[in-house]
Amino acid sequence: MKYKLSMVVGTLLSFIAAGTALASDYQDLKELINNRKEQTASFFKRLNYADKGLTAVAAAVEKGDYVQAAEQLLNYFDGRKITPGFQLGKSSDSVEAADGLLKDKLTLSNGLQGVLERNQDGNIIWNSRGGTDNVEWPCQISRHGCLMDAMNAYRQTGKTQYLTFIQGYLWDWLSHNDLPIKEIERFDKGKWADNIAPQWRTLDSGIRARAWIKLWENWKGEPVNKKTRFLMLMSLLDHADYLRWHHRPKGNWKISEMRGLVEISIAFPEFADSNSWYEYGIGQLTEEIDNQFYPDGAQMELAFSYDQGVVRNFWDVADVVESSPRKLPASFREKLENLYRYMAYVIKPSGCGPMNNDSDGKDYILPVIQRAAGQYGSDDLEYIASRGTKGAWKANSYSTVLPWAGQAIFRNGFAKDSDWSFFDVGPWGIGHQHNDKLHLSVVVGGRDILVDSGRYTYNGYHDTSNIWRNYVTGSESHNVILIDGLGQSASEKQASKPLSKSDYVITDTFAFARGTYDTGFKGVMDKDANTYRGNAAHSRAVMYVERLGWVVVDHIRTDRPRKLDVLWRFHPDCRVKNTGQKVFTADPNKANLLIQPISANDWDIELVSGRIKPSVQGWYSETFNVKVPNTVAVYSKQVQGDTMFAWLLKPVRNDLPAIEVKNVQMDAAKGLCHIEFSQESGYVLKMDIPVLGGVPRMEKTAE
Ligand SMILES: [Zn+2]
Repeated sequence: MKYKLSMVVGTLLSFIAAGTALASDYQDLKELINNRKEQTASFFKRLNYADKGLTAVAAAVEKGDYVQAAEQLLNYFDGRKITPGFQLGKSSDSVEAADGLLKDKLTLSNGLQGVLERNQDGNIIWNSRGGTDNVEWPCQISRHGCLMDAMNAYRQTGKTQYLTFIQGYLWDWLSHNDLPIKEIERFDKGKWADNIAPQWRTLDSGIRARAWIKLWENWKGEPVNKKTRFLMLMSLLDHADYLRWHHRPKGNWKISEMRGLVEISIAFPEFADSNSWYEYGIGQLTEEIDNQFYPDGAQMELAFSYDQGVVRNFWDVADVVESSPRKLPASFREKLENLYRYMAYVIKPSGCGPMNNDSDGKDYILPVIQRAAGQYGSDDLEYIASRGTKGAWKANSYSTVLPWAGQAIFRNGFAKDSDWSFFDVGPWGIGHQHNDKLHLSVVVGGRDILVDSGRYTYNGYHDTSNIWRNYVTGSESHNVILIDGLGQSASEKQASKPLSKSDYVITDTFAFARGTYDTGFKGVMDKDANTYRGNAAHSRAVMYVERLGWVVVDHIRTDRPRKLDVLWRFHPDCRVKNTGQKVFTADPNKANLLIQPISANDWDIELVSGRIKPSVQGWYSETFNVKVPNTVAVYSKQVQGDTMFAWLLKPVRNDLPAIEVKNVQMDAAKGLCHIEFSQESGYVLKMDIPVLGGVPRMEKTAE
């Protein structure tokens, strides 16, 4: 009897507690609406009451009872089915990440780790840098992607503290970050909220809208309080208006912004403007496939990390649209195929993309290519996606040149252990640029050997205040040539025409491309304009022959004596040595590379690693915000006038024959180079490599 009584008392107590919670939930909603009368009234004017589910809401609005209307609206959404395409994905490491969140520790999607800073009241200081000293922190903690980890962890464990965190984070953000309407008028059209309100940076606003939709769609029936949900709904309306009218005119940001707009329109057809948002957003996205991508499929920023991000956005938004009653423009999917083809053609043997411009090193896109191959069924995509086991490769070589992107990808196959190179003879890019024209990256036997240094940081993105940003964007962190210690400056942002067909050729036996940088050696972002003297230009040709390697011919045109520094930078995993004029990797049981000057043998060689003074050199960043020392071979010499020299970049593996350089003729005036290599197997390769113009030739004869 006693036992039963305690049960009854217990039940009664929890009933009263629940009742109290419900009452306070209602009171909080009421208080919110009383404090935001104007916003609430204009919000309720923006719903589509023709939607039958909103009859009760309409009746309450009619009476002027907005608290009742808000409650009815939240009830309606609770009972509505999940919008297809917004189901929560599964992530195996969510619980660990979410446990970090409970201690205010966050890892952003770019790998940046920090701790939420809070004021005396326990509220998050949204403008702080989270102890990271990184300008991206205040922008990216406003993306709210971390809340997906908390939601996943809640689903996996049932522990309500994750849900409490989500609710607290959202309420904190929502109640302190109203759309800065007055400031918007003052925003510089090019930059919008960047400096004034990082919480409303347009890029992050698009991303946040998507995160919110996912939360909204997946917490139906969960105890998330009404004031948070209702304020979020009102803010989502602000997000849609904001993205519709204040998005970027171009670039990868615009894609995220328009995706956010389209997804709000699809998840919330109850908004009266949702049709016009959809039409506008999907129209802009469709146009951007043409505006932002070259005919060869490359995104015009020419930074692979952004290219693949934009393409993923297109694909994902197409999936969402196709799961909804709305119609995707007929050409949308069709146009995407070419974008996948670009990614497939430049893919490294590792399955990742190249590290050009502001890219990291770990964009593993093989699964994306596999998905595209499945969708389009094209022979070449199938071939690349399956690493040569399915589909068909019909071209005469695995090498390819993307004539608009100006990227020459030379390779001997698509296997994990293939050789691969990336030679940049293209435009600078429309955003996220590095001063890296004529840079060459090389993979041997699937292993990164000659590398680009990556992007590392965005501190100092808009000025030259950060030595690290200057370094990673500067020529000094690329495999190019410094003239009198100075690197390249800005060059052509966007190609108006493809590379001339006379500047590249791919035959059955060799692949060739050449380019010239001649728009001034000024250092990073013109800060050294005063030290630039006279004229100089660098031209480079690369000839690739399977089983021989890469022959690189450099030509310097100059109106006065110069000091040259030719840079070859190695992946940090390489053990780099030098003997005489040769620099090579010496890693046991691995594919190696030998760099051998062919014509000039009077270089001063220095191996630099992890240097900060007198200038930053010898650093590599595969992951945003993480840098490690790597070895850079700096070949230096003084030249009196126009000059030309060549290099053999030779893969060193058991299966490859020894090579001897036999006959070299250089004509710097004409930019012509003739080289003969004798191979151990008894053949002689005779090459004519024209750097400035003319047709390359190669002939293989018995010795
Ligand atoms: Zn770079």
